[in-house]
Amino acid sequence: MAAAPAFSEAELRALDERFESAEPQEIVQWAVETFGDGLSVGASFGGASGMAILHMVALLKPDVHVFVLDTDYLFEETYETMRRAVPALGLTNVQVYKSRLTHEEQAREYGAALWMRDPDLCCELRKVEPNRRALEGKSAWMTGLRRDQSEGRAETPILSWSSKFGVVKVNPLANWTEKQTWAYILEHGIPYNPLLDRGYASIGCYNCTVPGVRGRAGRWQGFQKDECGLHT
Ligand code: SF4
Repeated sequence: MAAAPAFSEAELRALDERFESAEPQEIVQWAVETFGDGLSVGASFGGASGMAILHMVALLKPDVHVFVLDTDYLFEETYETMRRAVPALGLTNVQVYKSRLTHEEQAREYGAALWMRDPDLCCELRKVEPNRRALEGKSAWMTGLRRDQSEGRAETPILSWSSKFGVVKVNPLANWTEKQTWAYILEHGIPYNPLLDRGYASIGCYNCTVPGVRGRAGRWQGFQKDECGLHT
């Protein structure tokens, strides 16, 4: 069971407003001090903003619970980035969560290549359900969401209550731009996924990701979908 919310809706709204003019590092510090071991950071080792968040939080709390959703369909470059970045950032509590079904079991139960027929169900099985498990017993979830990543993310709050996962959701980079994020990554020499230098703007499963298009348009091509269901 997720922990009860520590804030009323009005309190979260007031904090969200206050954080609009705060630096991301200040928001990360507030989250670490407020939630302590109740804080979890979702990491994909795909996008640049997630790497910036990991750097900010590792400076304050290297043993923060970081979770990775391994769908079994991640690029080899993503695993390699995780292997490099975790020791480089000094993170000591990185946990990997997988679907309850292997891909063979999923194919037996739902048919082959489910992502080509029903990507929402595939994401539910391989991302949303493991995300729920990763956040069990936690009170806050930090992500690297930014408003400039897609139209659907344009209204992303910095702080909100996620009724889907029963936690306070903290998006310290919500109002940063792609340019600010890269400036931070390069200034601090933070490891990042090499696919970002090869034309991939957003990196998820290799089944559902193509290079050469801006923002999240390279995900789930051919479907009216640009979110996996974690953030909707
Ligand atoms: S991104 Fe594609 S392969 Fe990955 S879980 Fe979602 S539908 Fe399945």
